[in-house]
Amino acid sequence: MARERLYLFDTTLRDGAQTNGVDFTLSDKLAIAGMLDGLGIDYVEGGYPGANPTDTELFAQERKLATTFTAFGMTRRPGRSTSNDPGLAALLEAKADAICFVAKSWDYHVRVALETTPEENLASIRDSVRAAKAKGREVLLDCEHFFDGYKADPSFALACAKAAYDEGARWVVLCDTNGGTLPHEVEQIVAEVVKVIPGSHVGIHAHNDTEQAVANSLAAVRAGARQIQGTLNGLGERCGNANLVSIIPTLKLKGEFADRFEIGVSDAQLKALAHASHTLDEMLNRAPNRHAPYVGDSAFATKAGIHASAIVKEPATYEHVPPESVGNRRKLLVSDQAGKSNVLAELERIGLTVDKDDARIARLLDVVKEREAIGYAYEAADASFDLLARRVLGKVPDYFDVEKFDVNIEQRDNAVGQRVTVSLAVVKVKVDGETLISAAEGIGPVNALDLALRKDLGKYQGYIKGLELTDYRVRILNGGTEAVTRVLIESQDETGERWTTIGVSPNIIDASFQALMDSIIYKLVKSGAPA
Ligand SMILES: [Zn+2]
Repeated sequence: MARERLYLFDTTLRDGAQTNGVDFTLSDKLAIAGMLDGLGIDYVEGGYPGANPTDTELFAQERKLATTFTAFGMTRRPGRSTSNDPGLAALLEAKADAICFVAKSWDYHVRVALETTPEENLASIRDSVRAAKAKGREVLLDCEHFFDGYKADPSFALACAKAAYDEGARWVVLCDTNGGTLPHEVEQIVAEVVKVIPGSHVGIHAHNDTEQAVANSLAAVRAGARQIQGTLNGLGERCGNANLVSIIPTLKLKGEFADRFEIGVSDAQLKALAHASHTLDEMLNRAPNRHAPYVGDSAFATKAGIHASAIVKEPATYEHVPPESVGNRRKLLVSDQAGKSNVLAELERIGLTVDKDDARIARLLDVVKEREAIGYAYEAADASFDLLARRVLGKVPDYFDVEKFDVNIEQRDNAVGQRVTVSLAVVKVKVDGETLISAAEGIGPVNALDLALRKDLGKYQGYIKGLELTDYRVRILNGGTEAVTRVLIESQDETGERWTTIGVSPNIIDASFQALMDSIIYKLVKSGAPA
């Protein structure tokens, strides 16, 4: 049976740009548009030309994308003609393949917010669609507050949608602008709409205010809508928009949808989804949500030993889809609940082959348990686990020795009479029989220590050149008789690979030093540095 085509419309760059703290530059927008294009998204809404300089510039030239590159804007203002509305003129001039208009479809908003009549609202929709069609653009109409409007006055809400469709709009998009509509309501209302406008011309735009934007989008598809609007990682104002990163794999991998529908995202493109999701987080300088469905670090993570042994035998026992299908991976957490199978699977993942009956496996498990009892947490520190395993298996060279280090913190008045706190670290390292002493000032004691440690490592200097610290987290653990400090350090190298290392001690400098050392040594091991 031929599958029906379902279209994906991304509005990360327009509605997603309304998120608190998100401010895309032109180059961000171009990079994200390129990424969405590469994923096989049918429509990419770039922004609102005329509303701000970045978006005006974005649409000032052709962007040569395979996707239908879409500009967003308002229908003509009430009481004006299409030829006498500067906002509409800017939109019609934009170098876009399609124009997505937004119009009111709730009579209450028409009267109170727009201060015009229902008839004028309908005329504005018709005139704007006609003007954009005349310019050769594909046209979409976002019906703002459609669901609330439908509940208040179904005939007016439908008349707005129908006006656009009759005038030749390719899509009429039903927006749950306040995000308060529930899935069963969406399904009922969309089912009524598709009696008047064919579902192949109806889209859904859901907001996440009851955490059901994804469910609402799927409910609309079940009722007949054939375009889904959403954003990467569910970006969007308030609680966000429908998350395409959850919707896409659901459409591709769940029988109810996969058997009936086809989308523009191929199996190979689906494998790039986790990467796309993380790349957006990187650009926004946020830590990716570990618990994000499908693409999160913990989405396919298993902790208990008994589950891990079942997963190794038959992954489908505990996984709803194969993690590789979305570019994620299975992760068996090494923790104090870990069984031998967890450790074996983790060793295999990091590329250490050990016979499963090797006595060193039991020793490694004992060491992990002992260290976790005093505050180490290896599930958060892959690279430190990697080193610990290699050490127990006797595979980490002694690259260098830190003979001593010294960290001083001094508070004093500087030359212009300001009170400042200065940290100075001195490190004495022995590399290849040669003693090297380095000193560095830092913004804090750990920064100073890090800079001094990485200043001169003799023949290893070349290997750590691209190393940088990207995150530093401290937690005080109150266990037993005294408090200990746990430090997690995230590092990155020139290849973009990130890893996390851990240190635990009653002394914060000592804990930081352990994590810094693990990070450097991990980098040397990874780069195949000679002993
Ligand atoms: Zn919206």
